[in-house]
Amino acid sequence: MAGLGRLDGKTALISGAARGMGAAEARLFVSEGASVVIGDVLDAEGETLAKELGDQCAYVHHDVTSENEWAVAVSEATGRYGSLDVLINNAGIVQIAPMMLTSADDYMRIVNVNQFGVFLGMKAVAPAMTAAGRGSIINISSVAGLIGPAGHMAYCASKWAVRGMTKVASSELAPFGVRVNSIHPGLIDTPMLDEYSKLGVDVQEMGQGVPIGRLALADDVARLALYLASDESAYSTGSEFVVDGGMTASLAPRRPNS
Ligand code: NAD
Repeated sequence: MAGLGRLDGKTALISGAARGMGAAEARLFVSEGASVVIGDVLDAEGETLAKELGDQCAYVHHDVTSENEWAVAVSEATGRYGSLDVLINNAGIVQIAPMMLTSADDYMRIVNVNQFGVFLGMKAVAPAMTAAGRGSIINISSVAGLIGPAGHMAYCASKWAVRGMTKVASSELAPFGVRVNSIHPGLIDTPMLDEYSKLGVDVQEMGQGVPIGRLALADDVARLALYLASDESAYSTGSEFVVDGGMTASLAPRRPNS
């Protein structure tokens, strides 16, 4: 309903939003009054979601490793909706493999999407946001940007980098009214967890090992992104926002009845 949403009048660009967390953020943002451009390389899923969300949402084919495709995505947002107020650098890929079995190509593939893609994204939106004197950039890192779980060498490298890059960008853009923060999700129930299931890991059981005792829903992360996208978070920049059910607070897995 016009005039009541927490994101009324704002336009958001969300990368990798055809499914998973990005899709949950797109749904929530539209319901809070934002116009949303979703990008992804999964065109069929992206088109379907944009159609479901109506005039307030548009899909653009957008590979985050391509500087040209970033330019197209940004002009879709500013051209169609008149401004660009929020970027969620959400697109990401994971590979679970011990360091000794991680090839140089695999390492660079992960870093290219998760790290280089975030650099290109921040750089692509900065001119429009600094010119407008406002903006919120939300970089989706991970608990793997705070700790170093085995089997995640390339992924951790990329997610720790995103945490640091967030702070650099926040320092450079704060004088222009643009805020930059990182979100560090724990175990979120999205198609990304299929990478664990494929290896025979029971992901629901993994969720039971988290202090809160379950996997997160994509919405648990989307609600935090909503706060950071809105003016309610006006004084937060360069900060790490953890949404992990207590995972990084405890060394020991949760025990039943404890
Ligand atoms: P997901 O696999 O459901 O979604 C990721 C999306 O990114 C997909 O739609 C995929 O097509 C898209 N994508 C991949 N490569 C791309 C590229 N080059 N250009 C554009 N889009 C591309 O996974 P998700 O869990 O929703 O992941 C969203 C973000 O959250 C990722 O950055 C991920 O690393 C991070 N994350 C996930 C978890 C988790 O437990 N699921 C935990 C911490 C952080």
